Amino acid sequence: MRIVVQKFGGTSVASPAAREQVVNRVLQAKKEGLAPVVVVSAIGRKGDPYATDTLLGLLKEAGPDAPKRERDLLLSCGEIITCTVMAALFNRCGQPAMALTGGQAGIITDDQFGDARIVEVHPEPILRVLEQGYIPVVAGFQGETADGEVTTLGRGGSDTTAAALGAALGAEAVEIFTDVDGVMTADPRIVDEAHTLDVVTYQEVTQMAYQGAKVIHPRAVEIAMQYNIPLRVRSTFTDSPGTLVTRGVPYPGRLALGPERLITGIAHLPHVAQLKVILDPGDKAQEVELFSALAAAGISIDLINVFPEQKVFTVAEADAAKAGEVLKAKGFAPELTCGLAKVSVVGAGMRGVPGVMARVVAALYRAGVEILQTADSHATISCLVRGEDTEKAICALHEEFELGK
Ligand code: ADP
Ligand code: MG
Repeated sequence: MRIVVQKFGGTSVASPAAREQVVNRVLQAKKEGLAPVVVVSAIGRKGDPYATDTLLGLLKEAGPDAPKRERDLLLSCGEIITCTVMAALFNRCGQPAMALTGGQAGIITDDQFGDARIVEVHPEPILRVLEQGYIPVVAGFQGETADGEVTTLGRGGSDTTAAALGAALGAEAVEIFTDVDGVMTADPRIVDEAHTLDVVTYQEVTQMAYQGAKVIHPRAVEIAMQYNIPLRVRSTFTDSPGTLVTRGVPYPGRLALGPERLITGIAHLPHVAQLKVILDPGDKAQEVELFSALAAAGISIDLINVFPEQKVFTVAEADAAKAGEVLKAKGFAPELTCGLAKVSVVGAGMRGVPGVMARVVAALYRAGVEILQTADSHATISCLVRGEDTEKAICALHEEFELGK
């Protein structure tokens, strides 16, 4: 059986016309002799009645401390609604289909409610459904603990469901259908000139995703890479071939050993807050206490610059108030700045190439964007900027590295 996993995101299932497209895509794969396994997200985006954010809003009246187990059970309903509706639509076309929750599809996770990791996938339930001639339509973004508790995988988690099923079922490919033509050089909502990349490596796309390009979840890419399953990101609504995510990118005259392009794209992460803490340079115990307190509170930190007398780092804005409280309770006096964004130049090809940082700094300076902090790794240079400068910064860097169409 030639299995292909086809995942459809929120906008791909948002209207009757969109759902019709989904049905056509899946039936087309079937016609080509493939055995499609469908994974779906919750219907629509923020504001739509069954979107994840809407369901989350229902718990507002219970305050910020709504129990996580119940929160996950509620959130899981969004995808269950979609898979039942889609299964009914397939049946209407004379194609038997069966809706499955994550648990019913064999997805077993740990018990970290809200951000659970898939620890095991049992392929048997889906294989049984396929052998009976049904198309399995699986609720994305969710799983079940070994004890049968319903969990969710974190935002964007349906991509992870698709990749994990692809790995467990030995799929020929995993296709991520969305509302853009593929992985692009920047978010097309911000940069008009952004263009779709034909082929990218797993590493390039993982970096883009970790730095905020939400077109695909980084964990999904990692799973596909580990099991060497080709991943294709493409539009539900156009005939563009999309982006193939694979191991090596062949360039004319070169072996396909790895990424060769200098810069893959520009990614950004909004809603970042910066914390500065002044410390007595001689007091090493204080430094340990500072980072330990944040870790104990489950707050993850980024863009970390440690100087003898000052520690500077960022947190997600949603964690900023809590981080401030935790540090004050330990006797620190953190200086907190909200409303920032991280803009990153991503490209595995920049490793060891001199001058990339100089170009980043010059381009942002020319655009009038102040850099508040930087961090870099072998494949990224990230700059912290004011939220209102985000678009200016992305466009300036996109232009500097000539990533346009
Ligand atoms: P889905 O609901 O299909 O999972 P998402 O909203 O999670 O869709 O991801 C698709 C969105 O990702 C696009 O609408 C686009 O605005 C955004 N995006 C951000 N960065 C990029 C990028 N580099 N390439 C393509 N899309 C991007
Ligand atoms: Mg998504």
